[in-house]
Amino acid sequence: MSEANFDFDVIVIGAGYGGFDAAKHAAEHGLKVAIIESREMGGTCVNRGCVPSKALLAASGRVRELADSEHLSAFGIHSAPVRFERRKIADHANNLVAAIRGNLTKTLERAGVLIIHGKGRIEGIQRVGLRENNGVDRVLTCKEIILATGSDPFVPPGIETDGRTVFTSDEAVSLEWLPRWIAIIGSGYIGLEFADVYTALGCEVTMIEALDRVMPTFDPDITKLAARNLIQARDIDARAGLLASKVLPGSPVRIELSDVKTRDLVDELEVDAVLVATGRSPSSKGMNLESIGVETNRGFVPIDDQMRVLSKDQPVPHLWAVGDVTGKLMLAHTAAAQGTLAVENILGNSRSIDYRSIPAATFTHPEISSVGLTEEAAKELASKEKFDLGIVRSYFKANSKALAELESDGLMKLLFRKDDGEVLGAHIYGLHAADLIQEVANSLARRQSVFDLAYEVHTHPTLSEVVEVAYKQAVKLCKKDGVGN
Ligand SMILES: Cc1cc2nc3c(=O)[nH]c(=O)nc-3n(C[C@H](O)[C@H](O)[C@H](O)COP(=O)(O)OP(=O)(O)OC[C@H]3O[C@@H](n4cnc5c(N)ncnc54)[C@H](O)[C@@H]3O)c2cc1C
Repeated sequence: MSEANFDFDVIVIGAGYGGFDAAKHAAEHGLKVAIIESREMGGTCVNRGCVPSKALLAASGRVRELADSEHLSAFGIHSAPVRFERRKIADHANNLVAAIRGNLTKTLERAGVLIIHGKGRIEGIQRVGLRENNGVDRVLTCKEIILATGSDPFVPPGIETDGRTVFTSDEAVSLEWLPRWIAIIGSGYIGLEFADVYTALGCEVTMIEALDRVMPTFDPDITKLAARNLIQARDIDARAGLLASKVLPGSPVRIELSDVKTRDLVDELEVDAVLVATGRSPSSKGMNLESIGVETNRGFVPIDDQMRVLSKDQPVPHLWAVGDVTGKLMLAHTAAAQGTLAVENILGNSRSIDYRSIPAATFTHPEISSVGLTEEAAKELASKEKFDLGIVRSYFKANSKALAELESDGLMKLLFRKDDGEVLGAHIYGLHAADLIQEVANSLARRQSVFDLAYEVHTHPTLSEVVEVAYKQAVKLCKKDGVGN
């Protein structure tokens, strides 16, 4: 096919954050772009993820703050019992979703992107099959295809959902009702954030985790402190090492809990509702990837660091994939960064992604965040590359701003190389941890050394001094051990 005969320069399949950033970046660089979306514009983040969940957390966080009479009375403040309207909290989330979805759609239209409502699939190299919402099926041609089809909630076998009494985050974000007692299956960031919302709004929560400890994906030291405040202090009944092997919707919802190893029935619960927060599966089914020789890995599309789709470890010509469907750090900002980067590579500006410097945050009250390597991975790297690993801890209780807020329960753990001071990772629990991690993420992206970072000036009094103290402690530790600069 000659250059002039293509329908588009780029067709993006999926209009979540990954697809949005890719389409916008491509159009802004003069390419003729179409984006195909089968559901609502904005994907998971805008409609069923980050946006509505953070709106619920903002409102329920206020309720928690105003209901915490002990905390308030330490300031000499005495408030009346808090009242809230569930419907209005839900409306706040829904209105925000509509506003952000509208802005995002207008941004693409203004950039000149053609928005097509329908289901896309691969029809061959440089060929996209399209089933429009009106049933019309056709094939479009383009120079480059970007897959950005995202992910959907994963519901393990044995669990039946009805969307009302047993549901996933897709439904939970609408806050249709407040169950008196809810079981949350999974203690990853989605389970923790909803536990934060539900406990603030007066629901009793049981948390069920199949792995041998709650919050298994978080740093163990951070977990110890965070679990004490976010789980134990809130009277959440957290049960680890148990599998919710059977969940039947209804009133009540019946749950069978089995031992993970033996699969023996251990307990049965009857609760008002169940939120299934057991991870997410890639949306790659029906994409017809096999027709061009692409084998997915449990549904995830294999890519290289430039976002080129791989078949037997070799790039497939003119095919790119970004976002959750690739299974790399499944977060909105990863998807967006990958989208921009894929287009940069299409434009001939060779760029690759640095996953190590991508931060992650859990927006509980207080927040949890991390960037870079876990302690376990850092230890492995240290032994492989034969360097000494430095670990220091900086506490919020030594920070004036945290003390002024009467919110001094918090910890930052910093991992670094002792020989050249390079920052390898950080894990934070405490007030505004999600904002604090960005500074470390930036220094990690630039592979900066604590020997320089320790001399950067931080505003006083701010929480950012927790990070400054960590850098200074790192240098002190190196001096004590007689290593580094
Ligand atoms: C409750 C919750 C809270 C979250 N909070 C955060 C947070 O605070 N911060 C953060 O960074 N991340 C958060 N995430 C994760 C974030 O939402 C995802 O990482 C992000 O949405 C991934 O973007 P994406 O573009 O890859 O895919 P998606 O957002 O899933 O978008 C993919 C789009 O493709 C469409 N699509 C699929 N197949 C086809 C097809 N064949 N044809 C046409 N269209 C198709 C889908 O309809 C969808 O609109 C949260 C997720 C959840 C569930």
